[in-house]
Amino acid sequence: MRVPIQLSEESLFGFLTSTRLPVVSSLSSLIRWTSLGQAVACASFGIACLLFADDGLWSPTLPWSGALPALVATPFFVLAWMDWRARRLQRAGTMMFVAWYALTILANWPRGSFSAAWYVHPVLALAATTCLGVIPGLSLTMIAVCALLLATQMQVADILVPDVLPQLWVHAASLCAVTLASALAGAIVNRLVFMALVTAESQRRKNFESSRALRHREKLLRHALRVETIGDLAGMVCHQLRNTFQVLMGHITMCSMADDAERVRRLALMEQALQQTRPLLDQLMRMAHPDEGTSVACDVAELVRQFHQQARLILPGSVQMTCEAPTEPTMVLLNPHGLVHTLWNLVINARQAIVGEGAITLRCGRDRHQAWIEVVDTGSGMSKEVQARIFDPYFTTKPPGQGTGLGLTAVDRFVRSSNGLVQVESEVGLGTTFRLRFPIVELPSASASA
Ligand code: ADP
Ligand code: MG
Repeated sequence: MRVPIQLSEESLFGFLTSTRLPVVSSLSSLIRWTSLGQAVACASFGIACLLFADDGLWSPTLPWSGALPALVATPFFVLAWMDWRARRLQRAGTMMFVAWYALTILANWPRGSFSAAWYVHPVLALAATTCLGVIPGLSLTMIAVCALLLATQMQVADILVPDVLPQLWVHAASLCAVTLASALAGAIVNRLVFMALVTAESQRRKNFESSRALRHREKLLRHALRVETIGDLAGMVCHQLRNTFQVLMGHITMCSMADDAERVRRLALMEQALQQTRPLLDQLMRMAHPDEGTSVACDVAELVRQFHQQARLILPGSVQMTCEAPTEPTMVLLNPHGLVHTLWNLVINARQAIVGEGAITLRCGRDRHQAWIEVVDTGSGMSKEVQARIFDPYFTTKPPGQGTGLGLTAVDRFVRSSNGLVQVESEVGLGTTFRLRFPIVELPSASASA
């Protein structure tokens, strides 16, 4: 994702097109093809006037005053078309307005200031200052106003009836005033709209930047937590691997003294010992390269059961681990790897809270619209003061090097990002219960979807 626009661009064309809204890009391609169409129309009209009309170059008797306006406007329309194609939006817009002004000024000129077509100029002035920005729009409008005054002056030189003169100047002056007023109105619209757009865009950018910083911090936190959990888990896995190695060494020693049938039996036992260890290594691997991906509808009862199968392998014999999960599916929308990660955090904390013998129980169930998962331990428990702070980042009661205080922070974030909540009950000396609650997703039944 990128921040899309240069705020110094003062043209509405430029501004809107660089926001890359689909509607604006269709509009700009419409204007582009219209520019080409106007270029072709002007060129054809100009050539036709030259070929078929007497005095066709520049004549007051022709509706659009002959070939000259059309042929002068043609290259500007062509340039506008090329600039639209190259996405030089400000230049493209300027070329279009230059073409229109040239067309109307030259077409009006031979008829003097009384030509009704000068009334197009206030509209052009409004559009030019709105679309091109204040300075380019006003500059073009001033040229048009000067052209009108010059045309009037030349008309005065030709006119024979002096009574008409004051009327002529009043008419020209009022046309100039209306044109300039329209340009000023366009300039105000440009500033208002542009300022509103710039404010909205700056706000959007600020939000974008702060959410980027937030995402970065979240990423760092997840990373720190992963490293911590992998460290804890690796210690327990090593313990289990040492057991497996001892079993394997025993079988190997016995194999060297046994007959073929006994060797085959022992090989099968060795394979079984290795198979039992494999899920743990897979789990460690998955944690090192987690899928941080999307939520899917998962059966949490099944996930808890699978987790129990793996977790019980690494707990020492002094800690009993049991699981009570219903057999019917309990569907929740979450990232399954995130849930397993969360359960590891809770179970490792529970294991660390148990000194000597103890028990950890995993439970799963559902109320009306909620699924819940409990991790219950008979460990040391927590005082009210500790309970109040356990979700704070970096809060730990463990000695340096053993705890980072990020485990429960991440648990809380994960559960909340899955629209759930975490509840804690704990008594010093008796034990602790962590309960995770998630909204259940009702999958459409087969009969409903049929
Ligand atoms: P860490 O495990 O690195 O200390 P956590 O965020 O996982 O960080 O836990 C924060 C603190 O919450 C722990 O230091 C511990 O005091 C307390 N805690 C967490 N789980 C339990 C539990 N099951 N029993 C007792 N205390 C716990
Ligand atoms: Mg922890």
